[in-house]
Amino acid sequence: MFCPNCGKELSDQAATCPSCGHPMKAGAVNPTNKPVSMKSRLAVVLLCLFLGWIGVHRFYVGKVGTGVLFIFFGWNVLSIWVLVDFIMACVGSFTDKSGALVLNWNTEG
Ligand SMILES: [Zn+2]
Repeated sequence: MFCPNCGKELSDQAATCPSCGHPMKAGAVNPTNKPVSMKSRLAVVLLCLFLGWIGVHRFYVGKVGTGVLFIFFGWNVLSIWVLVDFIMACVGSFTDKSGALVLNWNTEG
């Protein structure tokens, strides 16, 4: 197959064009071109859902500083953050400490 963006010939397995970075598979669309985290999106969603009020999902992705804030404040004033983080994780906009998007539901995949 060929890149629709720059016309370079690609392997059928290529998720993105190595020449211009154009995403080649619908399932691997990453419109922001940010790096993709190795952390599991499923884990972030579940941790956020069940333990988000103490910031466990933020510890999981390495955001220790804000995770500590959640331990002290997550159960009241920052509870909206948990909801925001949960929605971000669901739509694939949650990022880990390095700013990489947590997109992979299964990190083995
Ligand atoms: Zn290209």
